[in-house]
Amino acid sequence: MPLSPIEGEPDPGGADCVSCGRCCHHGPRTVHLLEGDEARVLRRADGEEMLRRLTVLEARPPGFRFLRNGGERCAALDVSVQGRYPCGIYEVRPEDCRIVEPGSPACMEARRLGRLGSSVEFVRPSGNVIGSGATTWIGRRP
Ligand code: SF4
Ligand code: SF4
Repeated sequence: MPLSPIEGEPDPGGADCVSCGRCCHHGPRTVHLLEGDEARVLRRADGEEMLRRLTVLEARPPGFRFLRNGGERCAALDVSVQGRYPCGIYEVRPEDCRIVEPGSPACMEARRLGRLGSSVEFVRPSGNVIGSGATTWIGRRP
């Protein structure tokens, strides 16, 4: 179930993000990890355990690694306190998450829909569109 919409522009510095969390609500195979994202996680002492617990490595080529998702939201989202949505891995969150900046088109659509939508399209450097996860933002869909 999507969350309720949130009106208005968020604080550009991210001060509203923990009370919003809409862009962390989406479907499976949305947030994927590039090599640099994995390397960032593995620099942590608990990095390997974190990858096992929070990500899924697809068996089929080219073997993308995605953050786990039970169908509604990212597994790394901390929902232990009602109405608060802090990222549980904020310091090592993937690039997919970093490019959804407060006030960006993806952010504003997520706030309007209650979940990350599809007004933006993301592609791997190879040009393969893999969903509404992100490697390179190529713009709004018409
Ligand atoms: S939708 Fe926008 S305001 Fe909400 S958490 Fe994401 S970036 Fe922050
Ligand atoms: S890794 Fe963090 S910022 Fe990215 S979708 Fe998951 S909870 Fe949100």
